[in-house]
Amino acid sequence: MTATDTHFAQHLSTQRASAEQREAVLANPGFGNYFTDHTAIVDFSVDASGVGVWHGARLEPYGPIALDPAAAVLHYGQEIFEGMKAYRHEDGSVWTFRADANAARLNRSAVRLALPQLPEELFLESLRQLVAADQEWIPSGDGESLYLRPFMIATEAFLGVRPAREVSYRVIASPAGNYFGGEVKPVNIWVSRTYARAGRGGTGAAKAGGNYASSLAAQLEAEAHGCKQVLFLDQFNDNAVEELGGMNVFFVFRDGSLVTPALSGTILEGVTRSSIIQLGRDRGLKVSERKITLDEWRDGVASGDITEVFACGTAAVITPIGQLRDGDEFIGAPDAQAGEVTMSIRSQLLGIQTGAVEDAHGWLTRLV
Ligand SMILES: *Cc1c(COP(=O)(O)O)cnc(C)c1O
Repeated sequence: MTATDTHFAQHLSTQRASAEQREAVLANPGFGNYFTDHTAIVDFSVDASGVGVWHGARLEPYGPIALDPAAAVLHYGQEIFEGMKAYRHEDGSVWTFRADANAARLNRSAVRLALPQLPEELFLESLRQLVAADQEWIPSGDGESLYLRPFMIATEAFLGVRPAREVSYRVIASPAGNYFGGEVKPVNIWVSRTYARAGRGGTGAAKAGGNYASSLAAQLEAEAHGCKQVLFLDQFNDNAVEELGGMNVFFVFRDGSLVTPALSGTILEGVTRSSIIQLGRDRGLKVSERKITLDEWRDGVASGDITEVFACGTAAVITPIGQLRDGDEFIGAPDAQAGEVTMSIRSQLLGIQTGAVEDAHGWLTRLV
């Protein structure tokens, strides 16, 4: 198969979930709990002459992956992923948001993890194929969607340390409700002083499973202190705010301007982040990508200069940040309410994604 051959063989499930089973799941999907009937797969291998090719594009029934116990991903963590959503519009059509940006980011992550480049057409077609086969799994409630998880793993059975010559790219799909469950409520955040998420020259700008593995100890620390999420700082740069374990951060200032930490090589460049920057500018707001320290956050909240703080990412869209807990110190009120700017940008973004608001930037791609 050449790079642009996007034919997917159809090995469809003979044991799809029944309508009753599906409806039971869709009544309360939560996040990441249930998976659809199929998975899209494309394999990669390097042949004897050293040429790498993608081949065997197919849909298969969802199920366990047979991996050699020596597969590189199991030992050295050579893995990357993406996170996106498919939205059912009122007329029944199904769309995804800024898929080109996710395709490009997957390939940037691939460079960092020494994995092969996946042609964008193949990426898009894998989403189309899976969503077309499993579209009955798209929940239709307010703010609900089908979460898509493309990922790439090193499958070669070899314990020497070098980039794997056999790789598998796959997509799975999971019906998604509200990420933090229930209504949009501000979340409390724990400031990690013990752990960093990323370091200069590391993998922080790549969407790689290893970054999440290393954030879990901090997440446990947060939970032990009654917080839902962790804020990571750059301790070697005046405690500059970086991001949460899986979400970028925005500050709303009293004059209406928005600030988000500049991409420093240690922050993941969120598609939601860049969309909010654009939507903010469309509104005539000043939007800055710059260094913002924990001290500026603390002082800004105390003086009233910072009026709202929120986190953003595909899974949870936009989530207001309530109180920040830094050891024994608290920043912001325990009963902080979701801010007006936060909620307004949130509903605009969700509106574009779900087809209720005009897509002025051509961000949507039709899947079905
Ligand atoms: C995926 C991710 C985000 C959010 O990116 P989106 O493209 O907006 O979903 C932010 N931070 C980290 C560490 C991530 O992995």
